[in-house]
Amino acid sequence: MIWAKEETLSREEIEAIQLEKLKKVVSTVYEKVAPYRAKMDEAGIKPEDVKSLNDLKRLPFTTKQDMRDNYPFGLFAVDKSQLARIHASSGTTGKPTVVGYTKKDLETWAECVARLAVAGGAESSDVCQICFGYGMFTGALGLHNGLERIGACIIPSSTGNTEKQIMYMKDYGTTLLVATPSYALRIGEVATQMGLNPKTDLKLKTALVGSELLTEAMRDEMHKLYGDNLTITQNYGMSELIGPGVSGECTELCGMHINEDHFLAEIIDPETGEVLPAGEKGELVVTCLSKEALPLIRYRTRDITRLMYEPCKCGRTTARMENLSGRTDDMLKIRGVNVFPSQIEEVLLKTEEIGPHYEIIVDRKNHSDILTIRVELAPDKMTDDYAELERIRLKLKSALRVMLGLDAVIQLESPNTLKRFEGKAKRVTDNRKGQN
Ligand SMILES: [Zn+2]
Repeated sequence: MIWAKEETLSREEIEAIQLEKLKKVVSTVYEKVAPYRAKMDEAGIKPEDVKSLNDLKRLPFTTKQDMRDNYPFGLFAVDKSQLARIHASSGTTGKPTVVGYTKKDLETWAECVARLAVAGGAESSDVCQICFGYGMFTGALGLHNGLERIGACIIPSSTGNTEKQIMYMKDYGTTLLVATPSYALRIGEVATQMGLNPKTDLKLKTALVGSELLTEAMRDEMHKLYGDNLTITQNYGMSELIGPGVSGECTELCGMHINEDHFLAEIIDPETGEVLPAGEKGELVVTCLSKEALPLIRYRTRDITRLMYEPCKCGRTTARMENLSGRTDDMLKIRGVNVFPSQIEEVLLKTEEIGPHYEIIVDRKNHSDILTIRVELAPDKMTDDYAELERIRLKLKSALRVMLGLDAVIQLESPNTLKRFEGKAKRVTDNRKGQN
C-alpha cells in the first residue's frame, strides 16, 4: 500500500513542487531569520535569485554549530506564541539542540512518518509497541503520531523494564515493534532468558527500527532471533530536520525513500562543500521545504550516503538514499586510519562464535593508539578450552586486520557480561584525550 499520492509523482512534478516551496522558504528565512539574512547577504544572494533548483547550491549551509550559536530560538522563523511543541536533542556535550513545531509542522510530521511507516510494512490493524524513550527526544512521539495517523493502535511503553515490555507484547498481542536495533535484540535476548521463543510466542510481524544505524549484519542477527518472517525496516531522520520522517525503507529493502515534497536532498563533497553529480557518494545535505517554525536551509547532516532516482519496485517514485554505512561524526582515526564502528560490527556479527554485543575502546600509550574490542562468546560456544579461545581470538583479529588494516586487542568475555542498551547504544569509548 502507498499512503500518499506525493510518493508516486513524476520527477518533473516533484521538482515543480520543490522549486515552488524552495522559493517560498528562502524568502521567509531571509525576511524572518536574522542569521540567515546575514549569511545570504555575505554570500551575495537574494531570495529572488533562486530561479531554479540549480540555484540551491548558491545558498549557504547550515550546521549544528549554527544551531548552538543561535541557542535556543535564534533560527526560528515564527514567534514563540505560534509554537505548538518544543523538542531537543540529548545534548551529550554542552547545550542541547532545540527544535520547535507549529501546529501545521506537527501535521506535516505525522504525515511524513505515516508514509514511511506504511512503506516499511505498518498497517492500520497493527498493535504498535513504541520502545523509544518518550520525552524531549523526537523518536517516540514522532512514530507515535505517525502510526496513530494510519489508524494503528499504540502501546506507548517507552524504554526500560524489559521483562514488562515482553509481558505487554505477549498479553496485548503486539504486532509491530518500534525500537533501536540494539534494544530490539535485547528484548529478544531477555524473552529467550524468560523461557519464551520470540519466533513463536510473540506475534510480531514488523519492526520499524531507527535512531541508530541498522547494518545488514544487525538485521541478520534480528532475523535469527525473531525469525525470517519478521519484516525489519529502518527509517531515518534527525531532530534538526523534523525528527523521524525524512526517509525510510520500503519492504523491497533497497534504500530509504525520501519525502521529497518536504525535504530537498543534495550530496556534497564533505571536504570542499561542492555538490556532487547524481549517484555519487558523499555527505547528505537537506533543506526543509515545508517547516514553519524551523525551516533549515542546506543542513549538513554529517551522514554519508548516495541518492538513487530510479523508480522502485514498490511503485514509489521518490528518490531513495542508500542505507548509511557510517556517520562522519562516528568515525575514529586510529593510527592514522579512518575506522567506522559499523565496519567492526560487520566483522563481529559475521563471526558465529561470538554474540552481537560489543564494546570498542581506544587508548593512547607511548604515543600510539591502541584499539581494544570486547566481545562476548555466544552462549552455546562457552568454553574453558584455552586453545579454542585462542583460535577464536586469532580468527577475529585476522578478520579485523583484513577489514580495517589495523591490529586490535581482542578481549573475549562470558555471555551477558557487556552493558545492554535500551535506547541508542553507546559502544565506543575513546580515552585518548589526556593520554600520551
Ligand atoms: Zn520502494
